[in-house]
Parts: sequence; C-alpha cells; structure tokens
Amino acid sequence: MSLFRDFFIALSNSTYLNETAKRIGPRMGADKVVAGNTIEQLIETIERLNDKNIEVTVDNLGEFVGTEAEANQAKNEILEVMQAVKDYNVDAHMSVKLSSLGAEFDLNLAYENLREILLKADEFDKMHINIDTEKYQSLQQIIEVLDKLKGEFKNVGTVIQAYLYDADDLLDKYSDLRLRLVKGAYKEEANIAYQTKEEIDENYIRLIEKRLLNARNFTSIATHDDRIINHVKQFAKDHHIDKDNFEFQMLYGFRSELAEQIAREGYHFTIYVPYGNDWFAYFMRRLAERPQNLALAYQEFVSTETLKKVGLASAVGIGSLTILSGAVKLFRK
Ligand SMILES: Cc1cc2nc3c(=O)[nH]c(=O)nc-3n(C[C@H](O)[C@H](O)[C@H](O)COP(=O)(O)OP(=O)(O)OC[C@H]3O[C@@H](n4cnc5c(N)ncnc54)[C@H](O)[C@@H]3O)c2cc1C
Repeated sequence: MSLFRDFFIALSNSTYLNETAKRIGPRMGADKVVAGNTIEQLIETIERLNDKNIEVTVDNLGEFVGTEAEANQAKNEILEVMQAVKDYNVDAHMSVKLSSLGAEFDLNLAYENLREILLKADEFDKMHINIDTEKYQSLQQIIEVLDKLKGEFKNVGTVIQAYLYDADDLLDKYSDLRLRLVKGAYKEEANIAYQTKEEIDENYIRLIEKRLLNARNFTSIATHDDRIINHVKQFAKDHHIDKDNFEFQMLYGFRSELAEQIAREGYHFTIYVPYGNDWFAYFMRRLAERPQNLALAYQEFVSTETLKKVGLASAVGIGSLTILSGAVKLFRK
C-alpha cells in the first residue's frame, strides 16, 4: 500500500497538476468530498449538516500560492466565507493553511493575513480559527506564527499530527489552546515520523488520552477510525470526561452515517468541509490515505477525457495510468 500512498502524495505535490485541475473544477469524484465552489453551495451544505446537529469547519482550498496577490486573494475569500457564516447565521468556523496565506515565500505576509482573519473573527463572536498542519518542513512556521498570535487571540488553535515524534512536546506546549488531534496526512521520513500504522495508532491513542485527562481547552478528535472513536467514547466514560470538553471530527463525504449517528448519541461533532476550486491536492491526499477511496473516483478516473483534461496522462504516463485504472477497478469490487 505504501507504493499507492507515495504515488498519490507525489501527485498532490505537483504544481502543474494542481494548476490544471483548478481551471477545470472538481472532477474524478472530488465533487463528492468538496462542497462546491460558490458561497451558496457552501452555505447549503452547512445548513444541511447543522440540521443534523453537526457543526462545520470550512477549509477554503488552496495550497500552491506563489504571489502576494494570490495570498491576499485567499485571505479575502476566507473573510468572505466568514461574513457569509455570520449573515446566514450558520454554525461554522474556519480551518486555514498558512501556505495559502503566503507562508511559503513570505512568512510575515502569512502572519499579517492570519492576524487580519483573527481580528475579523473577534468581531464575529470570536469565531474559532484553526491553523491546519501541513508538511513537517512548514511546522516551524506554524509554531512561529502561533506563538506570536496566541497571546493576542484566544480563538486560535492548531493540529497535532500523531505520526510526528515531536507530537508529545507540541501537545504540552499548546495545552491551553483548542487543539485538533489527527494521525497525520503527509509523507514524512523515518527520522521525523512513525512509519507503521500500528505505531501511529498507538501514539495517537496515547496522545488523545493524555490530552483528555489534562486539557485546558476544547479537544477535537479527527478520525474516521471507528476503533479509535469507540476507544475514546469508553475512555471518556471511564474517566468522567464531560462530553462538552471534546468532539469528534470527520472530513466531508466520508462515513457520513457514522458521523450522524455519533452526533445523535449526544457527542459534539464537526465536519471539515473543503470548498473552492483548488481541489486536486486535497483529493489526492484522501486517495493516498485509503485506496478504497478510489471507489469514489471510479466513473471519472477511468475516463480518458477527464485524465487528459487534468493533465494526468502526460504527467505520469500512460503505463502508470493503466495500472492505476486497474487498481481503481480492484478497489471498487
Ligand atoms: C477533520 C479532519 C481534519 C484533518 N486535519 C488534518 C491536518 O490539519 N493535518 C494533517 O496532517 N492531517 C489532517 N487530517 C488527516 C488525518 O491526519 C488522516 O490522514 C486522516 O484522517 C486519515 O486517518 P484516519 O484517522 O481517518 O484513519 P485511517 O488510518 O485512514 O483509517 C483507519 C480505519 O478507519 C476505517 N475507515 C477510515 N476511513 C473510512 C471510510 N471512508 N469508510 C469506512 N471506513 C473507514 C477503516 O477501518 C480504516 O482501516 C484531518 C482529518 C480529519 C478527519
């Protein structure tokens, strides 16, 4: 499975494919896991989820930002979503990536952009702003920006990736912030991160337990893994941890029935809803995580027209695509 994972992570990192995909809009099944690219479509999705007692965290898609104008545009789009959340009075907050705000070429610009978002969030009932974690090489940037902002704003938090050896230290460092705990979605080297599923799961559970016992702020446990979810429910019961101290989170389009069931059981639940045109990297990471997700993509992935449009055919070669298309059929069974 590691080969599949490496393959899709490599695709997610291609600037060329991301740019081409942005122009043609969500394809290959991505529309099932991305909530459209207009504010109206987004608000409709949020309302539908809110009706089921599910909150939303919105991710304005976009990671390959190379100019100040693009970074400012990303910031403005985030402000626009926040305004709509307020205007339509829906239950949602924001998840932002520093890369989309310009961090890859000007960290100060990303900091200023995020600060502007937080100032606006203060006006909107202190809407929570989560800084998503990305590749390990950008972690120091998040730490630098967060350390500057966390004194000024109470409504900022981040994500702890359990595959990192650093995760435990980060959990301690940010114990007073609202945190999301995840397994980790990127490909990291063995000197930085655990490599096997067993090691990652074990560390994930250990960090969740430590956090729930010591947390000084709200905790989001973001996973589709029912084994871990059941473990957390039991752990919380055994240790008399109030349901108001934590929530579960899942990504839009995955395990919706389970999400709704958990919300009906009275747990806080938030769905992470990606929105916008820049869908490709996000979608490729989801395929990397779970080959069965290829089933989402079946109809269009094997359509040569779509492959040509996205530019996959020329980027990875026909041989790879034949293998890929065979794999799609296999996982669909
Ligand atoms: C809300 C949210 C926010 C996230 N934010 C970040 C972030 O900021 N930074 C980051 O690095 N990563 C982030 N991630 C991604 C995360 O790190 C993982 O890569 C991703 O969640 C996959 O791991 P998992 O815990 O869901 O379980 P996996 O290890 O992928 O799956 C474990 C088991 O769960 C079951 N399962 C999983 N998915 C399904 C499904 N679709 N249908 C049926 N069964 C399923 C299967 O039994 C599977 O074997 C986020 C994830 C979520 C849910």
